[in-house]
Order: sequence, then structure tokens, then C-alpha cells
Amino acid sequence: MSGAGASSYWCPQAWLGAAPVARLRVAVADGRVVALTPGTDPVPGDVVLPGVVLPGLANAHSHAFHRALRGRGGAGGGDFWTWRRAMYALAAALDPDACHAIARAVYAEMALAGVTGVGEMHYVHHAPDGRPYADPNAMADALRAAAREAGVRLTLLDTCYLAGGVGRDLEGVQRRFGDGDAGRWAERVDLLRDDDGFRVGAAVHSVRAVPRDQVPTVVAWARGRGAPLHAHVSEQRAEDEEVLAAHGLTPTRLLEDAGFLGPASTVVHAVHVMPADVERIGASRTTTCLCPTTERDLADGLAPGGALRDAGSPVCVGTDQHVEVDVLAEARAVEMHERLATGRRGSFTPGELVTAATAAGHASIGWPDAGTLAVGARADLVAVRTDTVRTVGADPAQLALVATAADVDTVVVDGAVVVRGGAHRLGDVAGLLGRAVADLQARVDR
Ligand SMILES: [Zn+2]
Repeated sequence: MSGAGASSYWCPQAWLGAAPVARLRVAVADGRVVALTPGTDPVPGDVVLPGVVLPGLANAHSHAFHRALRGRGGAGGGDFWTWRRAMYALAAALDPDACHAIARAVYAEMALAGVTGVGEMHYVHHAPDGRPYADPNAMADALRAAAREAGVRLTLLDTCYLAGGVGRDLEGVQRRFGDGDAGRWAERVDLLRDDDGFRVGAAVHSVRAVPRDQVPTVVAWARGRGAPLHAHVSEQRAEDEEVLAAHGLTPTRLLEDAGFLGPASTVVHAVHVMPADVERIGASRTTTCLCPTTERDLADGLAPGGALRDAGSPVCVGTDQHVEVDVLAEARAVEMHERLATGRRGSFTPGELVTAATAAGHASIGWPDAGTLAVGARADLVAVRTDTVRTVGADPAQLALVATAADVDTVVVDGAVVVRGGAHRLGDVAGLLGRAVADLQARVDR
């Protein structure tokens, strides 16, 4: 998906390393940064960007179709498990066309928010009766096409999901998620090929949904392919209690025994992890993906983000079920939740929040050459306006504490302009979202 040929940009301020620098010129060729010149004037032909230019943002944890639940149902009370029933009704209504339509619109919404790469934890693999489609990866291919059209890179975290709980078979809509065993999951995922804007990763949905003896097969597949590996970990207390009762182990300890932890792996949520689990995650350099807007929307709890960072875990962020699609807000919430938990400000510096939203996220989803402004890196540029009602007057070095998706003006992905002046190249993204959500909800109501 590289933007062909050469181009150049001039940034009044740009995030270089750990802080903004002034008057940066960025030369791009074949989708890569080829020169960075700070403290210089623009030359004729440069595209002059506004505000502060950040590297591309990464949304390291997404389930695109969950977007259709935004603003529906949360007022009626309940908890994670009541929300999950509504989500399952949607999952039952998906087919490859509907999956493509909602994902294309959601990925375009992400591009508008400055996202250049997304990790999609994808588990609705099969037809409603649980049998594979004629093309067993029809759903995955719908997601691949959706991301390409929306102009963002996609890591398909193809998700192994085999059980309805410890010792329980899949039931109802869950049959769509299952491949039978991890070996057959691996055979299907092996059919998927990477390209310049798409890579295949793996996920263990959770230790609730993948039996203990199946986890090593998923880990071996990911390690063999050099692919990123993710899992939901300790989002809900009930899940941890179930695993503890069955195995005498916390989910993190079970994953450690299965070989899951390590620098190519990411644990998502980590809300209820025990202190010893924090040490295991940190010592193994496993990344933690926090999804604070989801974790508060679903009443999950506050993750120990500062302790995980202190233990050695790189922290990144995801918008998960998309109650908001705003990676800047997600990164800011990492610090804000830490303030609520500790009674202190500044546990995460603004620079650390930018890293969480950029380089750490791209590394987690398998694009280590993205998320920093550097010669040789992928040419992802996100211009954030500093003259809006939200941002005007703020120190550019503290932009991560104030800016929102609404302040994103221009987004360049692999050297191609995807968003210009706050408008996506696909046009009316709210219209795309509205039609995709209405279509899915109509299917649910039928
Ligand atoms: Zn999730």
C-alpha cells in the first residue's frame, strides 16, 4: 500500500524521539522516510502540515464489529456479561459482506483519528452453523480488504477459540468461533499470506476459551512464523476465579507455563493480574495492551498500568469494542486512570503516552519499522492541530494530555495521504458507519 514515488512534508513542530522539534522537513520515497531535517525552512513543493506532527498511531486491540453496539444498551445496567449477550447477537448476524462493511467504516474512523496500523483480534471465522465457508478464511479476507480500502495497515490476530469455558463445549453462536482444536486452527491460518499492508498474527482468545493443553500449539505456530501473539488476560474476575479453581493457576501463570510470555507477545487488559503476574509479564518483556475506555465502559476495573511499566512491560493501547475510537484519548486515559488509582499526577510522562500510542503499539502488532519518525521507517505522519478550542495554548510537548481524534488534520500512511483537512479519502465516514450499523442491527432484529 506504499504511496508511489517521492514527496516531502514540512512540519512546524514534529515529534522526534522523546519530544517535539521545530521546523522539521520530512522527505519520503516509496513509502519510507529518506531524510529528516530539523530547523529548516520549507522548500517549494513541500506539503506544509499544521500543528504537531506525530508518527503514525497504532490501535493494538480491535474487534471491528463491536462498533455497532456503541450507544446501545449501556443505559440498561448490567456488566461485562450482559454486554457480551448483546455482542453475541451481533456476532450471529455477521457474514463476510456485513463484516467487510462495518470494518471498512470502522477502519476509516480509525484513520480519521490518526491510526495507521490496527491489530484486529478476529474470532468470527465460520458460518452460523459452525461449518467453514467455501473459502475457510472468507471473513479474514473481508477484513483484509476493508483495511486496504480504508488506508490502514492490518495485523489480523487470528484468534483460536475452542471452548465456552473451562471444560465446556462451544454453544450457540460460539460455534462460529471454533476450529475444533489448535492444530486445525493452525492449518487454516497457515493459508493466509502477508503482504506490504497486511500481516497475520495469532491470538489465544483467553485461557477460558482455549484449553490448557491447546495453548502451546498456538504459541508454536506464532513463534514458527515470527508472528505477533496476543491474548485477553484477566479482564474479568469471574474468568480468573474459574481458571484458578480448575488449574490452581492464574491465567498469566498458565500462559507462562505454555510458553506464551515473551517480547513478541501481548497481554490485553491485565486488569485483575496479581503482583506476581505483573512481575512475570514485566520480566519476560511481554507487552501490555491497555484499553481504558473499554475497561471503564464495561466496568472491568483499573489495570495496574504503572506497575506493569515499572516491571518492564512496554505499554500500548487499543480501542477494543470502540465505545470511542480515539487512540490519543486512550493513551491519555492510561495516565488518568493511574492518577485515580494512586492519587498522584505524572506517573506516565507525555512522551511515554506518545510512545504507547505509536511505537509500542506498532511493535506489539508486528510492525517494528513503524511508529517513529526515523530515516528508513515507514512514512506515517499524523498532523494534530494546535489551534483548535481543545489544543490552543497548550505546550506542544504536552499535546498527549489534551488532543483528541477531532484535532487530527492530515494522516499519511506508508507515504500515501489517507486523510486531508480532517476528511477521509473515502468521503462520508459517518454515512458509511451509519449504514453498516443499521444493516447489522436490522439483521439482529430479524
Ligand atoms: Zn478484546
